[in-house]
Amino acid sequence: MVIAIDGPAGSGKSVVSQRVAQRLGFHHLNSGKLYRAITHQVLQTAGTSNDSSTIVAIAEGVEILPADGGLRISGSFVPDAELHGELVDRHVSAVSSVLRVREIVNALLRSTATKGDIVVEGRDITTVVFPDAEFKVYLDADIESRAQRRYAQQAESTPEEQRSSYEEIRNAIAERDEADRTKEHGALVIAPDALYLDTSHLTIEEVCDKVTTTIQSDKIQQEN
Ligand code: C5P
Repeated sequence: MVIAIDGPAGSGKSVVSQRVAQRLGFHHLNSGKLYRAITHQVLQTAGTSNDSSTIVAIAEGVEILPADGGLRISGSFVPDAELHGELVDRHVSAVSSVLRVREIVNALLRSTATKGDIVVEGRDITTVVFPDAEFKVYLDADIESRAQRRYAQQAESTPEEQRSSYEEIRNAIAERDEADRTKEHGALVIAPDALYLDTSHLTIEEVCDKVTTTIQSDKIQQEN
């Protein structure tokens, strides 16, 4: 079974996907993290080059393995804080706009789905990667709530002298929203058959409860 979850940055996708997967005993896959890993490798190998053939060559050769607190990318450990750092944030939309990069990530996601039940999150999971997913969710929130969440997360993970202001975070999210919504391939759109939840005024637990109870009631309806 595939549970597909899409939404913009700061909508609560990652933590909700992880907790829903935990509750149901499913595997969890974060497609944004794969795009971040490829972007990190591009930045390491080719700097801020936007040349698509260079990006494709790097994406085709990179090896991404799970690791505690981050990822092992072509043999080097990269912590989550770096994958979610400002530099990767600034370049990930451009790298993930390259069609061949999307094909590589999508193939990896689809092959993982053949091995067991998964919760997959991203931007185009409900529409492009798994249009036939058994259950789809679109998580949303207003930009102030999303920027506030990122600002609070930063206080936990980043030394004070490296932190961005609330306005910088809000502007960076607005820029990435725009890039992600207007991409030629894999743009963020709301699937008409997705459960739409505005999480602006909900706690993580309330969102997880809504998602899991809707999955369970859908399942019961299908069985009857
Ligand atoms: O989910 P997260 O914010 O970590 O994703 C990072 C970036 O990766 C997004 O801003 C988007 O540009 C890209 N992405 C994508 N398609 C997905 C998931 C993420 O293009 N399915």
